[in-house]
Amino acid sequence: MGNVVIKLGINEITEMKKYYSKQLLEKNPPGSVFSAKTPGCVITAYNSGKVLFQGNDSEKEAGRWGSVASSAMTAAASKTKKVPTSAKGDLPPGISQMSAIGSDEVGTGDFFGPITVVAAYVKKEHIPLLKELGVRDSKDLNDDKIIAIAKVIKDVVPFSLMTLKNDKYNKLQQSGMSQGKMKAILHNQAILNVLEKIAPEQPEAILIDQFVQSSTYFQHLKGQKAVAKEKVCFSTKAEGIHLAVAAASILARYAFVQYIDKLSEAAGFKIPKGAGAQVDVAAAKLIVSKGRDILPSFVKLHFANTDKALALVNKRKF
Ligand code: MG
Repeated sequence: MGNVVIKLGINEITEMKKYYSKQLLEKNPPGSVFSAKTPGCVITAYNSGKVLFQGNDSEKEAGRWGSVASSAMTAAASKTKKVPTSAKGDLPPGISQMSAIGSDEVGTGDFFGPITVVAAYVKKEHIPLLKELGVRDSKDLNDDKIIAIAKVIKDVVPFSLMTLKNDKYNKLQQSGMSQGKMKAILHNQAILNVLEKIAPEQPEAILIDQFVQSSTYFQHLKGQKAVAKEKVCFSTKAEGIHLAVAAASILARYAFVQYIDKLSEAAGFKIPKGAGAQVDVAAAKLIVSKGRDILPSFVKLHFANTDKALALVNKRKF
């Protein structure tokens, strides 16, 4: 079990407390501002500004706050490790308050529907406004809330949406392209589009919600016009690091939900999300009503759900 101590300002600690609001512990140790527990980490923030991370995820969780390790650690904490740069994904210090492009994707794990990738530019002076509008980690928001927020922010932040429709996705997949490569190409293109939109203005940072090691990401982009390596940084759970990624995620989900609505209309019934048993049944229904040939424009064919749906059709069990 690892321990990590970092030192933060009071504003950052207030922000942290908000971030962990659903995971706060009732009992706070003496001298602490709050204590919270995630599945892999206990976080305790002290009045002194020191924040202690304990547990298997301590490095990852501390890296989220991207701050340098305290030079004035207590004797008890002196055995703890500093946050290695790699755990922070090489994030520049203070990135969360910079004018930044963030990008994120939706739909990669859904049997029905496209992959949608959005890159969005959030200027630092827009950060408070976006917070006010409710922009935060989209995993905490339901579809209705996401749609409502997306409708407002789409006119506030410059962004680019890339939609990889099912037909094209299936063709690329069958030609041997990995989903990782597709995503790299889409993220890169969305970011290039936003850079062009905001030019001559330049972002202070570009943050991609990490789906692959950065070396692999650039490997995927070999031979293409790519945003320079030095300008891009990666982090997992980047939605929690910069609001630009949270905004991108909300806009990507909005586009995905809208697309699923279109597919539902074409199918004549409500298309489910995800890759669970309910999508097998829906695909079986679709095959029976429209024929097998309709599938490539609705689903990601290489998912195991395709065979499961066909089995249901053969057994007429749905
Ligand atoms: Mg993501």
